[in-house]
Amino acid sequence: MKIIAIGRNYINHARELDNPVPKEPLFFMMPDSALLKNNQPFFYPDFSDEIHFEVEIVVRLNRLGKNIAPEFAYRYYNEIGIGIDFTARDLQKKCKEKGLPWEIAKSFDGAAPISNFISLEKLGDINNINFRLDLNGDTVQQGNTKEMIFSTDQLVAYVSKFITIKIGDLLFTGTPAGVGPVKIGDRLTAYIEEEKMLDFFIK
Ligand code: MG
Repeated sequence: MKIIAIGRNYINHARELDNPVPKEPLFFMMPDSALLKNNQPFFYPDFSDEIHFEVEIVVRLNRLGKNIAPEFAYRYYNEIGIGIDFTARDLQKKCKEKGLPWEIAKSFDGAAPISNFISLEKLGDINNINFRLDLNGDTVQQGNTKEMIFSTDQLVAYVSKFITIKIGDLLFTGTPAGVGPVKIGDRLTAYIEEEKMLDFFIK
């Protein structure tokens, strides 16, 4: 499986990092070794002094597809979860300044904690889902998928122009405003609607 992650998909987040609002989706990839499951702790890596949280709705793809039309994209997923796209912001800044790829800042081991997945039949409209992240009990990020610049269907269609979608692939759909640093000892708790989905510590 592979992980496809969308950047700058919420206007208020693009602005907080002084990035232009994209005219086309922007994506990057993470390997399966980035995943962190079952609320395992995140171990702060020694190559960064500025690890940021980015809470994101994660869509699990359940069909093989290529060149998927946006109007048929809904057939390619039926479960979502929530994840953190941990970012070594200090390394990412250097990559961006040099115009280089972001992998060392985004795709390292443990960079992608994910929750279990829940059926969209239970949740309803994928374009109207509330989610949030609490840091040590205080809400630091909240969003609704209706605020996405590019909808899940548009993202699936766009990515599948370039890369074949396979069963079990994960799509991180972008983060709303409020990203910030973590430190050792912090506890992160993420919710879809009022359901606690993720709960883990930084070690
Ligand atoms: Mg992100």
